[in-house]
Amino acid sequence: MLDRIKGGLFGVAVGDALGATTEFMSAEEVRERYGKVTDIMGCGYFDLLPGEVTDDTAMTIAVAKGIIQSPDNPIPAIGEEFLRWYDTKPKDVGTIIRTVFSIYNGDWFDAAIKACEKLKGRCAGNGSLMRCLPIALAYADKEKMEEITIWHSRMTHADDKATEACLIYNRIAFRLLQGESLSDAIFQEIAHTRYEPMLTEAPSCLPDGYVVHTMSWVLHWLLRCESFEDVVISATNMGEDSDTVAAIAGGLKGLEAGYEQLPRRFVEKIRCGGELENLATQLMHVRNE
Ligand SMILES: [Mg+2]
Repeated sequence: MLDRIKGGLFGVAVGDALGATTEFMSAEEVRERYGKVTDIMGCGYFDLLPGEVTDDTAMTIAVAKGIIQSPDNPIPAIGEEFLRWYDTKPKDVGTIIRTVFSIYNGDWFDAAIKACEKLKGRCAGNGSLMRCLPIALAYADKEKMEEITIWHSRMTHADDKATEACLIYNRIAFRLLQGESLSDAIFQEIAHTRYEPMLTEAPSCLPDGYVVHTMSWVLHWLLRCESFEDVVISATNMGEDSDTVAAIAGGLKGLEAGYEQLPRRFVEKIRCGGELENLATQLMHVRNE
């Protein structure tokens, strides 16, 4: 179980660190500039060091810490961790989350609704999906896992499409932790949803920050690629919101594979690896309590 939980967290971080190199580029620009990106090398839009991660991993860590501090009612603690992260003045805060932070005055759900109004309803971003995996890792009780997944998304994203994607994602993770295969778990959870076409078709959208587009590409790579390496490298070379697509897809693929199966050349580069190992152990304690 610990190997799988670690695999999930490192899967997010590796996808993030790898995909950050090509974030905001088109697939064609990636091809012209790099040929094909197959290794973690940093640089990119935020000029990162190799193995440095971005908001996707930072907010995943914040969610994990909030759960560990207060497993019964983690939302307030998760909020505290969001604020602590924001105080470090990160350079890569997404538009929706930045707007929520600028409005927040003690009530996350209210801030999310107001941010959505301010953004004229354009608040179905992938920012809650990219950080939601620790909830599935920590809660073996399905009802509790789903309840926290929903409310955690609404802290920043007042749009049901964001909530829906988080729920589908964490239900897939829940099945993986019970030993199901990734393809079976995806099939069970996307049947009769807006994502069902991904079982047979490739997405016709760009892998951008709109949560429906992100989730479509995540499912596409998870259904089409054999290995963890294939998943995160494919997402990286498509550009656009590549770090987030690779992080989200990498989380589930890493959870299925387990930490020991992830390529050493990737995991050894992750600068926050020590912290992720500690969090994995503590999330497993929450799960077993
Ligand atoms: Mg990012």
